[in-house]
Amino acid sequence: MSRSGASPQSPEIERLLALDKAHAWHPYTATIDRDPVYPVRAAQGCVLELMDGRRLIDGMASWWCVIHGYNHPVLNQAAREQLEQMAHVMFGGLTHAPAIELVERLVRITPEPLQQVFLCDSGSVAVEVAMKMALQYQQAIGERKRVRFLTVRSGYHGDTFHAMSVCDPVTGMHQLFNQVLPQQFFAPAPAPGFGEPCTEADIADIQRLIETHRDEIAAVILEPIVQGAGGMRFYSAEYLQRVRALCDEFGVLLIADEIATGFGRTGRLFACEHAGISPDIMTLGKALTGGYLTSAATLATEQVAETISRAKPGVFMHGPTFMGNPLACAIANASIDLLLEASPGSSGQGWQANIARIERALAAGLAPCRDLPGVAEVRVLGAIGVVEMTQPVAMRGIQRRFVERGVWVRPFGRLVYLMPPFVISDAELQGLTTAVGDVLSSAIASRRVNSASKRVCSCSGVCACPCWNS
Ligand SMILES: *Cc1c(COP(=O)(O)O)cnc(C)c1O
Repeated sequence: MSRSGASPQSPEIERLLALDKAHAWHPYTATIDRDPVYPVRAAQGCVLELMDGRRLIDGMASWWCVIHGYNHPVLNQAAREQLEQMAHVMFGGLTHAPAIELVERLVRITPEPLQQVFLCDSGSVAVEVAMKMALQYQQAIGERKRVRFLTVRSGYHGDTFHAMSVCDPVTGMHQLFNQVLPQQFFAPAPAPGFGEPCTEADIADIQRLIETHRDEIAAVILEPIVQGAGGMRFYSAEYLQRVRALCDEFGVLLIADEIATGFGRTGRLFACEHAGISPDIMTLGKALTGGYLTSAATLATEQVAETISRAKPGVFMHGPTFMGNPLACAIANASIDLLLEASPGSSGQGWQANIARIERALAAGLAPCRDLPGVAEVRVLGAIGVVEMTQPVAMRGIQRRFVERGVWVRPFGRLVYLMPPFVISDAELQGLTTAVGDVLSSAIASRRVNSASKRVCSCSGVCACPCWNS
């Protein structure tokens, strides 16, 4: 990447930012009193280059997606080659090599019973598709009253309506829509942490819910092992095994939402593997195309697919315009092959060794944060590192400090977390973890007089109160 180009005061940057401010509605934001946004010119490997020439180490992998880093020559080549053939063609009545190669790969690398792949366009749609499959399945076996879903609190499954209905009702950002959302069953978030056993008490609530409402529940839906945007929690593999057993006992389907966890992020190719279980339906998205294009997939067992297909109306009722987009499929194939080959930085020992390397660096680098005031917990699993604060962080102030420190980290709520591209170097990892420690401790050191109470704020400088935002 060239470092030349727009200077901080460049009229071109100002023009673009003015237009952005006037017309671009960013995720989960208002159109007035806007949070600052940082214009990116290019990205390479694990570095984002802003239009003003500043370079940021990327700690987010653009929300779990960019596992191979930005501007990867192999993925670029796959995109170019497919572009020369066709960018898109409808999937109704037609098929093509990129989609066929992709469904073959997905069936090969996911747990064995998953045999049928429905390609779709985004994670939320994959969740909608999974839930519709569960409903059609229960209809097909004559369980017509099984039209509701059971999930655990602290989950996140997307922003469309049925996906919203199974997000955490409090932290899930969707209380606003409670009046129109289908009402689902919620068990408490899994209590035992990753690596811990699951006691009878830990499973009692979800067991009682399944037993009591077995005639109403079509499926249990949850994120296996790692709950992402709903709280960045890591939970016991035994808990997941117990839920699988309960689903089997009561004829309820299990949907594993692997949209965030899939493709190696947790140290296993799919998080279900930590528990050695296989769901009836699995959703994939995010890292599927290495972050190049929006694409997702819903996988079902032969039994689920066949049961749906044998019953009236004899088809599965879904079909997005852009399903199986050839460009996305070609890049996904290249991305999966890249992952399964030895990843760069792993000294040729395969992707597992590389994730283990990232896990060690995150654990060592974030450990000092444990001693900071205002920090509730530090936890690491695979290529995910989380610093949980006792109070919500003030996004605006803390985001600016991270950018000033040369890293891209975007906290939410009480969570400051890292999920870097897998190609990240040891030096870049150290840059990220020291920045997290430095920014959190400087925020704490510079706590200010609360403009409302006129006292030194007790918020440790990292909350969302006016003292930090001023
Ligand atoms: C991101 C996410 C989704 C939604 O995916 P989109 O592509 O944003 O629609 C669903 N489930 C989980 C677990 C996710 O992390």
